[in-house]
Amino acid sequence: MKTTPRVLIVEDEPSIAELLTLNLKHNGFAPVWAGDGMAAQRELEVTLPDVILLDWMLPGQSGISLARKWRADPRTKDIPVILLTAKSDETDKIAGLDAGADDYITKPFSIKEMLARLRAVLRRRSPEISTQILTIGELHLDGATHRVTFQDSLLKLGPTEFKLLQHLMSYPERVHSRGQLLDKVWGDHVYIEERTVDVHIKRLREALGAGGAHVETVRGTGYRITAQTAAVVAK
Ligand code: CA
Repeated sequence: MKTTPRVLIVEDEPSIAELLTLNLKHNGFAPVWAGDGMAAQRELEVTLPDVILLDWMLPGQSGISLARKWRADPRTKDIPVILLTAKSDETDKIAGLDAGADDYITKPFSIKEMLARLRAVLRRRSPEISTQILTIGELHLDGATHRVTFQDSLLKLGPTEFKLLQHLMSYPERVHSRGQLLDKVWGDHVYIEERTVDVHIKRLREALGAGGAHVETVRGTGYRITAQTAAVVAK
């Protein structure tokens, strides 16, 4: 269960990595540092981050080839990548974006700029991490205050149920498989059984009371949140 966005820093210069780590921690992120592509790959096999800060010039595989590799891998393809580089040449920028990077930061960069770009990329790629208010029928979820209400009464949800609901409400009517939910809500599903999703869906429905009717089981496929619910409309 992720409470703060995880940032994988792939950077071979310890001083820059340390500067990034310190500032990310101070600003509500959970940074993890890998010194090269191999270390980054090992880290990705254990836990998927919410965003990758990737240095261009690395020992061994370059940032560009790593970005290309992660984009081609179904498990990592949706993780936003921001390239860090001393190269300011326009053609290099295009090569980076072509390789699948979401954004670019040219060294030396200000911490303020780095944080702003990080947040922008997270907002674009992972709306569930953002602080928006989501609404389905009379069910409201406030991402900033973590409040959930149904028909104006405040509901009590556990952290996993909150994240699950936030993800479902970010994509109304869309059907999510258990594997997809594990990926997006738990961050990684290597060590978690798909049955875990069913347990938390059950808890979520219970916590939502009558609003739980919005959470629909799609037989043989998974779950979705829908505004078209007979039980709720009839009320
Ligand atoms: Ca470097």
